[in-house]
Amino acid sequence: MQIRKSILVILDGAGDRANEKLAYKTPLEYASTPNLDSIAKKSMVGLMDPIAPGIRAGSDTSHLNILGYDPYEVYTGRGPFEAAGLDMDLKPGDIAFRCNFSTVDENLVVLDRRAGRIKEGTRELAEALNRMKIEDVEFFVKEGVEHRAALVMRGPGLSPFVSDVDPHEKGVKIHEAKPLKEVAQKTARLLNLFVKKSYEILKEHPVNKRREAEGKLPANILLPRGAGMAPHLENFQKKYGMKGACVVGTPLIRGICKMVGIEPIDFSGATGSYDTDMRGKFDHAVKALRSYDFVLVNIKAPDIAGHDMLPQKKVVVMEKIDDAVGHLLEIIPEDVVVIITADHSTPCTVGDHTGDPVPILIYAADTRREGEEFNEISCAKGSLRIRGKEVMRILLNITNRAEKFGA
Ligand code: ZN
Ligand code: ZN
Repeated sequence: MQIRKSILVILDGAGDRANEKLAYKTPLEYASTPNLDSIAKKSMVGLMDPIAPGIRAGSDTSHLNILGYDPYEVYTGRGPFEAAGLDMDLKPGDIAFRCNFSTVDENLVVLDRRAGRIKEGTRELAEALNRMKIEDVEFFVKEGVEHRAALVMRGPGLSPFVSDVDPHEKGVKIHEAKPLKEVAQKTARLLNLFVKKSYEILKEHPVNKRREAEGKLPANILLPRGAGMAPHLENFQKKYGMKGACVVGTPLIRGICKMVGIEPIDFSGATGSYDTDMRGKFDHAVKALRSYDFVLVNIKAPDIAGHDMLPQKKVVVMEKIDDAVGHLLEIIPEDVVVIITADHSTPCTVGDHTGDPVPILIYAADTRREGEEFNEISCAKGSLRIRGKEVMRILLNITNRAEKFGA
């Protein structure tokens, strides 16, 4: 049996519902997608429940499930994956948060959750807080894009069950982190001390003095949210015998990949936004296939259009993706397995993730050819009706890597 390489393309939030503005078609159904349709014709197709029927999957829990890591076992919050996405070093048992650099007044009332969308200087601000030690717990801080950052707590007796400090609105006082379980008392207490300390340090920081002199809002506090515990995750290569790489724009998905040992291939065109260089993503993915067995590509734009509730925009996004898929089909070596699906539906009628199943196609030179078009309605006529956790098992079979069960 010829062992094959594979590429798994996840069109983030691409699944949708019938939309009145599109003559009651879904955006994917309405869009003109000749390239996706041409590969669907040579593929097995069907519908996939990213986690289980009716479960509204997050991007993180869905990607974990699709990669074969049970989110019900390993997921307590998105913090650790965000932190890993910023290249922070995480050890199992660390507690991590996503954070904003924000602006508060002297009573700790939030004036701006994003500190005037600060663009520069957050590296210095993060550095001023990094490696702080309170009692026996160490705090690590790393800046992200604009006002975003991540925080990691490391020490004995910590728990992820603490509430957010970020009040998620302005004009109100920052929240005290509260223990959601008895075991989290220490974590909540030390986190609150750290946040107060961040205010004391940041309000005097030269970066903020300069900002104030320029009439800008100071980034004078760090507000954590989304606590989670870094899980132990079996290494991807050990689990599947495939060396994995990924081309993704969003730190959250990049972080999931890093934590399982799938290597991120970074390039400046992968923005995780509408303007992402989709053809460039596939160029990098195909190049990566020379030295890796498996490449994950995530394209975030459909999800954004879904959250923005813009069906026409989502149609345009799908057509742009189709153009990039056409490019992929031209450059991809023969006999590479291609799987195209979504991590969840983000219907434009809802503006958030829903539990509707998503279309999936699985292509190899010799797969059963049963598809017609790549969309929710056409793929529903195919043979597959699967869950996210079954994708890797099917991939191992189609790439001729699966172990035989029995004689
Ligand atoms: Zn998603
Ligand atoms: Zn989303």
